[in-house]
Amino acid sequence: MERTYIKDLKEKIGQEVSISGWVNVRRDQGKMVFLDLRDVTGKVQAVVLPMHTEALEVAQRVRSEWVVSVSAQVNKRPDRNIKEGVLNGDIELEVLNIEVLNEAQTPPMDIASDGHEIGEETRLKYRYLDLRRPRLQYNMRLRHSVTLHVRNFLSRHGFLEIETPILTKSTPEGSRDYVVPSRLEQGKFYALPQSPQQYKQLLMVAGTERYFQVARCMRDEDTRGDRQPEFTQLDMELSFVREEDIMRLNEELLIELVQTLTPEKKIQTIPFPRITYKDAMEKYGNDKPDIREDKNDPDLLAFCWVIDFPFFEKDKKGAWTFTHNPFSSPQKAYYEDLMEKKNIGEILATQYDIALNGFEIGGGSIRNHRPEALIKVLEIMGHTEESIRSNFGHMLEAFSYGAPPHGGIAWGLDRLVTLLTNEPNIREVIAFPKTGEGRDLMMEAPSEISAEQLQELGIEVKKK
Ligand code: ASP
Repeated sequence: MERTYIKDLKEKIGQEVSISGWVNVRRDQGKMVFLDLRDVTGKVQAVVLPMHTEALEVAQRVRSEWVVSVSAQVNKRPDRNIKEGVLNGDIELEVLNIEVLNEAQTPPMDIASDGHEIGEETRLKYRYLDLRRPRLQYNMRLRHSVTLHVRNFLSRHGFLEIETPILTKSTPEGSRDYVVPSRLEQGKFYALPQSPQQYKQLLMVAGTERYFQVARCMRDEDTRGDRQPEFTQLDMELSFVREEDIMRLNEELLIELVQTLTPEKKIQTIPFPRITYKDAMEKYGNDKPDIREDKNDPDLLAFCWVIDFPFFEKDKKGAWTFTHNPFSSPQKAYYEDLMEKKNIGEILATQYDIALNGFEIGGGSIRNHRPEALIKVLEIMGHTEESIRSNFGHMLEAFSYGAPPHGGIAWGLDRLVTLLTNEPNIREVIAFPKTGEGRDLMMEAPSEISAEQLQELGIEVKKK
């Protein structure tokens, strides 16, 4: 018999059906056994009556999390047993036959609860069980809906989703790179991308005009509570646009997305308020202000833009460095200053960040599409002619072949979904996150590799 999903059972009252899934809970009452059965679409209560002797014998053996296929008759519950407002609260299955598809050990943790009370070590080591809990099922589903919504919206607005390489060259995003040794060119390394920044700009030179990607980014940063070594950006880049165009488009997308997928959430102010970096620092003491009028309301979303960031700041050694992105262009009024390398500390960037309830959920800028302006930025940062050539030569060369003015933005997708689901940290919305120390407890990564693999790569490991 064809399988019926549990969510569709209510349309089959009086019929015989076959369902497949897990035993959620079993209650043995001696003469009869109650089973709560679960599949990806929901739960249903089933009862095994004494007259179905074979099924009863199996039902007495099964335990939570066993995988079963059950054939049953769908019955309406007597009025007094109806549970209002619960999926399948008005029906019950009368089990005719149970086939055990797989037995299960007793799970090392409760997977019916929301799991907040369980140690994260156990949850991450047995993530495939942890993901069975309804809260995480919901998070994965919402995350899927968010990316699907974004894809449809951007596609409708003329964007192409284009994949960019994972094995690449270091991008100067300001973090440490993860590196991958080359077997064919021993002693040389690829870097994993900190973002698709350079590729997306090169796609603009290529005439793509509107690019986006749900992109994985890797940054080898020291443990900081809620950071992950790899995370997901919704990355986009557009040609022939100004700050205003990008901000407006992203605002429209965010509003549509929230109103469609989480209608219970209220956006505090539309259009999103714009706050200068200076005002944000003075009023809120940070550049991702929490402007919520009521911080007790879990369904309040207070988006705001932060603009007018300084382009450069001094690093620990007193040298100039970029605050956000070396490829940004200064605001028009400061272009001359950049070209003359004057009033460096006062130059404002075209950077715009978007903050939500006190978290930065995205940021971007208009870029320097003229090679001579990019060279000035790099010179201010202390790059020699030689280091500009070897690190940025490919970008400068590309820009010398007719680069359109362009700009873009990237959202931290994990962070956005975390806020939409009211979760305490981004690990709750990532299927297989790593610990704060960057370990995957389930796969046991990182791990040593074999002597043969090292030999092939020409690598010797120094023992600590
Ligand atoms: N690549 C930038 C980042 O990762 C975002 C952008 O400017 O588009 O922060």
